[in-house]
Amino acid sequence: MIEKSTKILATLGPASSNPKTIEGLIKAGANLFRLNFSHGTHEHHLETLKMIRAVMKKLDITIGVMQDISGPKVRIGDLEDKFELNRGDVVTFKQKEIVGYKKGKGQYVVSINYPKILKKMKVGESVYLYDGIIHAKVISIGKNVKVMIENHGILSSKKGVNFPHTEIGIDVLTQKDRDDIAWGVKNRVDFFAISFVQNANDIIRVRELLDGYGGKIISKIEKFDAIENIDEIIEVSDGIMVARGDLGIEVPYYKVPTLQKMLIRKANKKSIPVITATQMLLSMTTNTSATRAEVSDVANAVLDGTDIVMLSEESAIGNNPVHAVNTMSNIIAQTEKIYPYHKQKALGLLEKFDIIEKSVMNIADELKATGILILTSSGQSAIKISRFRPKTKIYAFTHNPDVLTQLTSIWGVTPVDQVEIVSASKMIKAMLKKLEKRGILDRKGLYISTIGYPLGVPGSTNTIKILNESEIDYYLSL
Ligand code: PGA
Ligand code: MN
Repeated sequence: MIEKSTKILATLGPASSNPKTIEGLIKAGANLFRLNFSHGTHEHHLETLKMIRAVMKKLDITIGVMQDISGPKVRIGDLEDKFELNRGDVVTFKQKEIVGYKKGKGQYVVSINYPKILKKMKVGESVYLYDGIIHAKVISIGKNVKVMIENHGILSSKKGVNFPHTEIGIDVLTQKDRDDIAWGVKNRVDFFAISFVQNANDIIRVRELLDGYGGKIISKIEKFDAIENIDEIIEVSDGIMVARGDLGIEVPYYKVPTLQKMLIRKANKKSIPVITATQMLLSMTTNTSATRAEVSDVANAVLDGTDIVMLSEESAIGNNPVHAVNTMSNIIAQTEKIYPYHKQKALGLLEKFDIIEKSVMNIADELKATGILILTSSGQSAIKISRFRPKTKIYAFTHNPDVLTQLTSIWGVTPVDQVEIVSASKMIKAMLKKLEKRGILDRKGLYISTIGYPLGVPGSTNTIKILNESEIDYYLSL
C-alpha cells in the first residue's frame, strides 16, 4: 500500500459495489466509502454496507462509511420532449404539477418539484437550469413565474434548477431524507453528509434526528447562503465538504478555488475534517489517465490542507475505479514530499491546553520517530496531534469501535484497532502487538506513545513515553 497522510473517500456505485472492487479500492488507498442516497434503495445500500464490512474484516483494516443524504435538490418536472432553448426564449414555471410542453415559438411551460420557491422570486433574479448550463432571468412574477433564457442549451426532464440569488428557505430535510437518516442510524454508518445546508439550525435538527447516536455530521457547503453563514455552520458541524459541483453553480465559478482555500483553513483551525469533492479526476470516468489539470487539482487540494479528497463518478460509474484511486494515491504521496508540515504557527494553534500534543509532535520530529502511538477514548488526542500536521505517522488505538472508524477521516491518522482498557504496560504491549500483526511494526524503530491517567477517561492524556528498540522488546515479551 502507498504511504500517505491525506485520506481518500471513494463513492461506491454500479461500477464498484462488489466485494472484489471494494477490496481493490482499499488496497489502492481508499480510506472511506460514500453511499450516495440520491440513488438506490435501502436494500441495495444495505447489501453494499455488508460487503464493505465483510471486506474490512477479511483485510483486518478500518474503513469509514459515509451516508450522503440527497436533500432537497430542486428540479424541473418531466417534459413531453426535449426543449432546444435559445437566447430570448421564455419559460413559464407553473405552480401546478404538469408535464412540460412547448406552447409556441420560443414559449415553453414547465413545473418544479418545490413550487413554494416561485413565491420567493423577484424580477431580475437569476435562475440556472440544467446544473448551471442554461442561464435565465426572472421577467415576471405572480402565480406563475416567467424567465427569459440567456444562452442556448438543450433541456430535458428532471434537470436541476438553481436560484443563486434567492434565499429559497426550503427545508433541508425531505421525508425521504428523514427515512434515509433513520436507516443510517439503524445500520450505524460513521458519517452523515447533509446536502444543501443553509445555516446552523439545519445541522442542529439533523443531530436531533440522530437521537443520541454518535455518528458524525458533515455539512456539504454548496449554497451561497451556506458561505454567508459559514462560521455558525462550522461551529455545529463535525466536518465539512467543499461540494464544488453545486457550489460552482451557486456562486460564480471563478470563486470556487478561493472559497476552497477559505473553507479548508476554517476547518483546519477548528480541528474538524474537511473533504474536497467533485470532478477531481473526472476525465478518468472514461479515460485511462487524468488530465494534467486534474492532477494539479488533487495536488493543490492536498497542499491547501484538506483532510480528504473525494471521487464521485470516477469510482461509482467509471471504467476503472481502482485505477482512479491508485492515481489519486500516487498524486498524494508525491505531493506530501513537499507538504507544509508543522502548521501550528500558521494556523495560530498554540494554545496552552494542547501542550501534551504539541510536545508529542516536537519530540517525534526531533527524534525522527517511526510513529506516534495514541491511546484515545474520544479520538480527540489523535485529532489534536493531526491538526499540527506532523511528519511522523500517527497510529490510533481506542477501546471504542465507533471512534476507531471515525478516525478514518483524520489526516495522518491510521486507526489501527481496539485495545481493551487494562494496565498501562499491557496496553503498550497490545498496541505494539497489533502493529506487529499488521506487519507495520519496525522493531528497531522509535515510537512515541501517549497515555492518559486515569486510564480510559477522555481528556486525561498526560503521559508521554519514548519506546526504543530495547523497550519494544521488553513490552512485547511481557
Ligand atoms: P453531490 O455533492 O455529488 O451530492 O451533488 C457534491 C457536489 O455538489 O459537489
Ligand atoms: Mn451537490
